[in-house]
Amino acid sequence: MNYYSLNHKAPNTSFKDAVIKGLAPDKGLYFPENITPLPKAFFDNIDNLSYSEIAFTAIKQFVSPEIPEAILKTIVEETLSFDFPVVQLNDHISTLELFHGPTMAFKDVGARFMARCLGYFNQDNTNEVTVLVATSGDTGGAVANGFLGVKGVNVVILYPSGKVSEIQEMQLTTLGQNIRALEVDGVFDDCQDMVKRAFLDEELTSKMQLTSANSINVARWLPQLFYFMFAYKQLHKTHKDIVFSVPSGNFGNVCAGMMAQKLGLPIAHFIASNNQNNVVTNYLQTEEYHPKASVQTISNAMDVGNPSNFIRIQEIYKNNFDSLKNNLSSYSFSDVETKEAMLEIYNNYNYVADPHGAVGYLGCKAYLKEKPNAHTVFLETAHPTKFLDVVEEVIKEKQELPEQIQAVMGKTKVATKIGSYDDLKSFLLKS
Ligand SMILES: *Cc1c(COP(=O)(O)O)cnc(C)c1O
Repeated sequence: MNYYSLNHKAPNTSFKDAVIKGLAPDKGLYFPENITPLPKAFFDNIDNLSYSEIAFTAIKQFVSPEIPEAILKTIVEETLSFDFPVVQLNDHISTLELFHGPTMAFKDVGARFMARCLGYFNQDNTNEVTVLVATSGDTGGAVANGFLGVKGVNVVILYPSGKVSEIQEMQLTTLGQNIRALEVDGVFDDCQDMVKRAFLDEELTSKMQLTSANSINVARWLPQLFYFMFAYKQLHKTHKDIVFSVPSGNFGNVCAGMMAQKLGLPIAHFIASNNQNNVVTNYLQTEEYHPKASVQTISNAMDVGNPSNFIRIQEIYKNNFDSLKNNLSSYSFSDVETKEAMLEIYNNYNYVADPHGAVGYLGCKAYLKEKPNAHTVFLETAHPTKFLDVVEEVIKEKQELPEQIQAVMGKTKVATKIGSYDDLKSFLLKS
């Protein structure tokens, strides 16, 4: 598959090149030239397919011929070595648990898939690739874990000091080897801006091959479309109109869901559930898109003021506001509402949701007021114990830490503090 830049000022390129570059030379995000729907028989037969078989068939067209089928099968199987269960809360609300991977957030799948693709492309390459990534919390851990020990790949993670949870910080600062963490005096948008500036900096890019493991990278973004298929497999017999509520930050996940729909997956509607960072909620109300500085919330992975994948969503809908609006609703919720929702979910369904999932749940409820017959599925994007302070404060019950979390507690944090782009640049140049 070839990819084009959404800025339309760079040559089209292969999957391999798109993964290694991350962003096109004209700074546009890459988008696949074609999306060929899968045959109806694939969806009719989904009950008989394993998750790996579903994923392999769904992703094949986007990565071939650069990744041979046999290799792709292995990559997919290794990527998906954990479960993706749907838990039904009531007749109209279910949750899809995406937190059973090694760092207990949904980003594990994209990070593991991308790391394996890059590892494959880099196996005969003597030039190292530096993966530069900004994190609002979960990307850093998933990327650190996914890329640990991958030959020829160095990883540098920028995270906002004091604005990620303790567990998130441990996950991205304690692994060592080819993974290094930079603790930025600033907010997530500062980290993201520094990363973007590094990609534009010819002095840097002439000396090293930089790529991104944020969802701007097609190998991080596209595998997320699997989730929607896995949920469909579990729900389609009992529910017809399936609506996904996606807690959204950079809008990579919901955009991947829209790709699954393009492939023919019967999805009735999407809900982009936002915290107070509500650029897209406002856009759908006013048709005006105004990026703004992010504000800090208890669902920190969604504290994004200028969602990078929104441009891909616009491409999917050919910049047609009405057709986007027909397929996407968006609501925004405060931290107070989010905490109330966490308590309600716990009291009514004996289910512990994390703050991001709780925003997704609120999105379901808001949508059901308009369309009471739908079956809504909110994505539980992270395990509640990743946000231990908030969760225990709200539901007033001590949480048991899963194995994956226990494994990083008490390890030694190693991070370099930086305050400016120049600090980042000299760090990269001297390494
Ligand atoms: C990254 C993340 C999100 C937001 O996903 P996007 O693809 O950036 O919209 C939501 N919840 C959690 C827990 C996350 O880690």
